[in-house]
Amino acid sequence: MNFRSIMQEAGVPPAAAPIAGGLQAHTPIDGSALSYVPIDNVEVIGARIAAAQEAFLVWRAVPPPVRGELIRRFARRVRRDKQALGRLISLESGKILSEGLGEVQEVIDICDFAVGLSRQLYGLTIASERPGHHLLERWHPLGPVGVITAFNFPMAVWAWNAALALVCGNTVIWKPSEKTPLCALALHRIMSEVVGDFAAAHPAVSQLVIGRREAGEQIADSALIPLVSATGSTAMGRALGPRVAARFGRSLLELGGNNAAIVTPSADLALSLRAIVFAAAGTAGQRCTTLRRLIVHRSLATQLKGMLRKAYASLPVGSPLERDTLVGPLIDAGAFVRMQSALAAARQAGATVVGGDRVLPPGLDGGYYVRPALVETETQFEAMREETFAPILYVIPYDNFEQALALQNEVRQGLSSAIFTTDMREAETFLSATGSDCGIANVNTGPSGAEIGGAFGGEKETGGGRESGSDAWKTYMRRQTQTVNYSSAMPLAQGVQFPVE
Ligand code: NAD
Repeated sequence: MNFRSIMQEAGVPPAAAPIAGGLQAHTPIDGSALSYVPIDNVEVIGARIAAAQEAFLVWRAVPPPVRGELIRRFARRVRRDKQALGRLISLESGKILSEGLGEVQEVIDICDFAVGLSRQLYGLTIASERPGHHLLERWHPLGPVGVITAFNFPMAVWAWNAALALVCGNTVIWKPSEKTPLCALALHRIMSEVVGDFAAAHPAVSQLVIGRREAGEQIADSALIPLVSATGSTAMGRALGPRVAARFGRSLLELGGNNAAIVTPSADLALSLRAIVFAAAGTAGQRCTTLRRLIVHRSLATQLKGMLRKAYASLPVGSPLERDTLVGPLIDAGAFVRMQSALAAARQAGATVVGGDRVLPPGLDGGYYVRPALVETETQFEAMREETFAPILYVIPYDNFEQALALQNEVRQGLSSAIFTTDMREAETFLSATGSDCGIANVNTGPSGAEIGGAFGGEKETGGGRESGSDAWKTYMRRQTQTVNYSSAMPLAQGVQFPVE
């Protein structure tokens, strides 16, 4: 299937000519231009935000299960178009087809979750200390929610936010990555059509704005947007967070990770190997939850390194649209340069680098393909504390469990983590308050590939946000505590007396 027909099937026919100041959509498969997309200027973005605010005033009063019906209809359309959308993700972001389809499945899954949630936005009743009173806690919609997304999950991250935000009674303004505008256009077109066919929805409940960093900054600065959910690098969050806070807005930050796995002497090595290779080399190392540091008990280190070298050497690297490929391209030349400089820093620090070199699949010379790299080191050197968004797995030995935990936690990021062990004490310690300091902690499965049912996000420089499942929906609502006096007396709390004749 050629690139043009993938775009056409997904409903984003290519535009042939560059547009002044606009975006050039490209495919990392061979580096070629796919299409040209105009960006929205300040006035257009301002108008979309204003429209989202107007729509909010109507949408917030629509009963939540009716709001859920919108999401149910949207998911039905996404199910129908799953293959076409999955192929477009592969084309524009470079992830292999199975992962592209998996990402669309994540869109569907979070929609199903949100539909159920639309009948479960539970509040609380609380015992009152005063006779003839009751206390309640209720959740109300917040307002227009800004959603800024990264290139590596060009559809799912918007869906995690939008499906929940919409059933919670908010409207949504989406600013996708400038590297993946076509995925956003294709998915949002479906949403717009579904909204257009659903009489209960104000036409402006879901908005898309195409732009670069400046568009994200406009969302960050808009007083009409009470919540900005932003997914991307820690540098982005460091710039955006204070801007939103300066106007007392809330932000939900999903930033970079630097995820580790510990392999203990009792680990099932065959199982561990499968999990490690998927988590470290899958998606060409371009997941926020990618496994970047492997902390291995010294007694196993030589054996596991040998197994990894063998597995890495045989990983099929190539076009993500080919059925047998497991490792697709990096997103662009910049990602390749950053990977090479991280490997140079590793060599400088005395580590042994295996792989990491450029691969040139026939006919795809304009793509940046690499053989995933293993970096064998004795110490956790400075470059290992950074997130390099590429398939580099640092392997470091440990001697005792406390040391392994310390190595795992002594980075600035705190997204995901894993332990491979059959020792119940080690597993439970890892999951305990004194164990992993990350938002996600797994036993005998890798740190990447989360399900939507749990809350997703991480601590420290990962930003502290939680989205997707569990009670993450509460972030998209405002909490109101209510006191009702149904008696004919007027008692004050804490026994305060204030007689008024
Ligand atoms: P990026 O930070 O370059 O861009 C992300 C988005 O933020 C884009 O839409 C971009 O236009 C926008 N942006 C950038 N600077 C901004 C600013 N100052 N103000 C407002 N908006 C701004 O990230 P990327 O390269 O697209 O994605 C890779 C990064 O995203 C990695 O660090 C990865 O770990 C992270 N990520 C995190 C999660 C998570 O859930 N924690 C998920 C996916 C990706």
